[in-house]
Amino acid sequence: MKIVETFADARALGRGCVGLVPTMGYLHEGHISLIDAARSECDTVVVSLFVNPLQFGPNEDLASYPRDLDRDAALVEAARADVLFAPRLEVMYPDDPLTTVTVGDVTEGMEGARRPGHFDGVATVVAKLFAGIVPDRSYFGRKDAQQLVTVRRMVLDLSFPTIIVGAPIVREADGLALSSRNIFLDPRQRDAARSISRGLFAAAAAVTAGERSAREIEGITSAVVDGEAGIDLDYATLADQETAAPVTTLDRPAFLAVAASVGSTRLLDNIHIDPYEGGWVPDVGTRLREPSILYREA
Ligand code: AMP
Repeated sequence: MKIVETFADARALGRGCVGLVPTMGYLHEGHISLIDAARSECDTVVVSLFVNPLQFGPNEDLASYPRDLDRDAALVEAARADVLFAPRLEVMYPDDPLTTVTVGDVTEGMEGARRPGHFDGVATVVAKLFAGIVPDRSYFGRKDAQQLVTVRRMVLDLSFPTIIVGAPIVREADGLALSSRNIFLDPRQRDAARSISRGLFAAAAAVTAGERSAREIEGITSAVVDGEAGIDLDYATLADQETAAPVTTLDRPAFLAVAASVGSTRLLDNIHIDPYEGGWVPDVGTRLREPSILYREA
């Protein structure tokens, strides 16, 4: 595995089908699952690691976002990726960008409404990675469902020659979706955070039993999270998988998205619900058997 700092060096190492896994580092098994998917489908696997200031708001956790390049490099190597692209700020943004990417509509609700400019930052940095590395395939987690919708729409609108692959959410054994931010949770907060996945799984069970009303489905999840002390639900919204717009009835591919705060940590989770053989099947992701590497000493 080679560590490179410039787009030219990253591009020069690409042979055959190039797969890109964009990350902000502090890797966990969710990221590793994306690298595994890329490894199984591509000749060259490039993992990018860049904590992108453009996607953080002024009062967000840019300064405290966890960082550990040595740990990440060891994990990327163990996952058999070929290249770790870890650019410095001056390489990614030689100057304050005068050109940025705004993806309309799909970024209006949910995270876009709460975090002004966030998806402009995401779309801009992802566009730069696509332009600079020219991947044939790019891998994103369904964990950030609205981000995935946004990236797919950007690729459609701007004709980037990359196939977007969305991968299932990886969870702790008890259901909590893996996130680099989980290390900020103390044991009590960690316990409260479990209510998010519990609420989503309860909604999934209702969908499997035939519930189709968004209000009912959302209500099931909200009731579970609201019933837990120490966690503040921001929203539980059933959204169209292609447009991220709220839906009132489950009659098209959708995702049930949750955002909640535990102390100062904001957590996101969702389940995807797709049609299959005439029914609606929730995808709740996959679970680890052991606690995540996030909680183990390097
Ligand atoms: P991040 O480093 O948080 O920007 O995430 C990099 C990529 O990993 C994004 O495409 C995320 O959606 C994906 N990702 C983060 N957490 C998970 C998870 N628990 N399961 C699957 N993918 C994830």
